[in-house]
Amino acid sequence: MTPQTMLLASHNAKKLVELQRILTPLGFTVVTDREAGLSLTDVEETGVTFAENALLKAKAGCAESGMICVADDSGLCVDALDGAPGVYSARFAGEHGNDDKNIDKLLDLLRGLPPEKRTARFVSAVCCVFPNGDVVTAEGVCEGVIATERHGSGGFGYDPVFMVGDRSFAEFTPAEKDAVSHRGRALAALRDKLLAYSSR
Ligand code: IMP
Repeated sequence: MTPQTMLLASHNAKKLVELQRILTPLGFTVVTDREAGLSLTDVEETGVTFAENALLKAKAGCAESGMICVADDSGLCVDALDGAPGVYSARFAGEHGNDDKNIDKLLDLLRGLPPEKRTARFVSAVCCVFPNGDVVTAEGVCEGVIATERHGSGGFGYDPVFMVGDRSFAEFTPAEKDAVSHRGRALAALRDKLLAYSSR
C-alpha cells in the first residue's frame, strides 16, 4: 500500500498511543490532530453501536481536516450485565474517562459472582473515511474474564480487571496486548480491507 498520511480522530491520549503503535508497523503513516497542526472538535458519541460511533468520529474528522481519517470506538461488554457498559464504557460511573470510578462500579456490580459468570469481551470498531466519501470499516473482539480486584499497572481503562488467561491486560507488555487485543485485531483487519480497497 502506498504510504498515505492518516489522521487519528481521538483525544484519548492512551488510546492514541495504541493506535499509533499498532498502525505504524502495519505500513501507515499516522498523525494526531496536534501533530497535523489541527485541533479537532470533540464529537458527541450519539450512536448505539461501536460502529456507528467510529463512523461519526471518522466522518467528522475527515470533514474538518480534509485528510483521510481513522477512528476507533471501543468498550467493554460484560455478559452478567447484559452487555453493559458497552458504548457507555468511558462514562460508566458518570464522569467521562474516570477509569478508577468505572472499575469500582464494575467490581461492585459483579461482587460475589463466580469466575464462570464474569465473562466479558472488549470490542473495537475502527473506521477509515476518505475525503471522496469512501468508508472502510472493521471490528475486533477479545474475550476475557473480569477479575475480583485490580492486577498490574500498565495499559488504561478497564485493563487492570480484564483477565486473559491468568494475567490482566495491565500485566501484558504493549506488544503482548496488541497481538490479542480487540484494537490490534480490528486494525489488522482494517489493514487487509484497505489493501483490497487500494488495489481495486
Ligand atoms: P471511547 O473513546 O468512546 O472509544 O471509549 C472507550 C472506553 O472503553 C475507554 O475509555 C475505556 O474505558 C474502555 N476501553 C476501550 N478499549 C480499552 C482497552 O484496550 N483497555 C481498557 N479499556 C478500554
